[in-house]
Amino acid sequence: MSAPHMGPEEFRQHGHTVVDWIADYWSRREGFRVMPSVQPGDVAGRLPERAPEYGEPFSAMLADVDRLLLPGMAHWQHPGFLGFFPMTTSGPSVLGELLAAGLNAQGMTWSSNPACTELEMTVTDWLADLMGLPACFAGRGVIQDTASAGALVALTAALWRRAGLAWRDGGSGGRYTVYTSCESHCSVAKAARIAGIGDAGVRWVEVDGRTLAMRPQHLRALIDADIAQGLTPVAVIATVGTTSTTAVDPLPAIGKLCHAYDLWLHVDGAYAGVAAICPELRWINDGLQDADSYCVNAHKWLLTGFDCCVMWVADPEALTNAMNVSAGYLTEISSQARDYRDWQIPLGRRFRALKLWFVLRCYGAEGLRAHLRRGVALAQEFAGWVRADPRFEIVAPHPFGLVCFRLRADDDRNAELLARINSTGEIYLSSSQVRGRYVLRMAAGGPATDRAHMAGLWKRIQAEAGDA
Ligand code: PLP
Repeated sequence: MSAPHMGPEEFRQHGHTVVDWIADYWSRREGFRVMPSVQPGDVAGRLPERAPEYGEPFSAMLADVDRLLLPGMAHWQHPGFLGFFPMTTSGPSVLGELLAAGLNAQGMTWSSNPACTELEMTVTDWLADLMGLPACFAGRGVIQDTASAGALVALTAALWRRAGLAWRDGGSGGRYTVYTSCESHCSVAKAARIAGIGDAGVRWVEVDGRTLAMRPQHLRALIDADIAQGLTPVAVIATVGTTSTTAVDPLPAIGKLCHAYDLWLHVDGAYAGVAAICPELRWINDGLQDADSYCVNAHKWLLTGFDCCVMWVADPEALTNAMNVSAGYLTEISSQARDYRDWQIPLGRRFRALKLWFVLRCYGAEGLRAHLRRGVALAQEFAGWVRADPRFEIVAPHPFGLVCFRLRADDDRNAELLARINSTGEIYLSSSQVRGRYVLRMAAGGPATDRAHMAGLWKRIQAEAGDA
């Protein structure tokens, strides 16, 4: 019996239905609770225990998306979703993704898919140019799935540069250390673990009490102490836009230290890095010319659906030496041109450049600037409202789309306020700890959120705060 493949005509018909479904979803997303009210197991409990023996009609599957999945979905594209960082997408991104899925071609080496490789080289250069990145990154871009993977591959390149074959053949052996601020993302600790440096090899650098940015003096002290102990420092991971508060580490001073001690400087600009597309925010690039690698998530603020982390590496050879493995079955497919398999952890890779290409072309630089500026303006206005209400305080500088604030009350009262706000189903904010205290985080930047939403949100927060 032949398999019941969906033929091109049937695909065309269902494809139109799915595109209509997505367009309708975007039109009606505001009607959903931002966060579902479900308990663990509720969604799985409504799904059949086994896959069907015989194929089912497509209409039944789509109906079950509405019936079984939507009630359990967190709606990240809802205008009231203001938690974490925005994970934006757009029509051109979704359509680029659809094309990539239809082509379903492997981009592991140049010859396995020349267009995939060369479009990726081109769009990463386009983005570097739009962001005004230093020349050391020109022609040296790659798309990773996530910033977490970016940090990990950067560490392997750093280990290669510092220790070469002694590390690649012999492993880490508890000798190497990496430095990052105590405000940096938890993916740094994970990367150090996977790279074999281990938790014991991570040094958490203190931050400035006001700006929450890394203190270079403390960085130097930690490096000196490790060298005195006979350990081998390999890398510093600095952040442009930390996760809790969007603090920007002082790259010029950190870069000087890295130069003096011959350390790899990786800069994590996962959320805020793309803001450099706006000239008035380009100050965040100061010092990047001394970085060895830099990554930004187009899948956060740049209207490109998950996953699309753009990374640049000033010395790609360090990375490819760290990552290259040979195998007889890859000989035919490997090339003298760029083989992105040596720039990443997995062998296989998706055609992610396509969706970014569509986004860059569809919006143009001006459209992207307008989008980013809108997020910043909404956040600034929101911060003004918070500041004008004596019950609240702003807890950190807020140059981008994130505002961290709290009631002038104890942590429990703040946590209760957040729970009440989120239980409305109209808004979702997240929280963090800043200077040891509970804070609420409001992250603007989603394309569906406008000024009216923001004003409504603030009224709601004020009402829930009561006479605190
Ligand atoms: N780095 C920073 C500064 C982040 O804010 C985040 C996520 O919010 C990450 C890294 C992790 O991003 P990804 O999910 O792409 O690994």
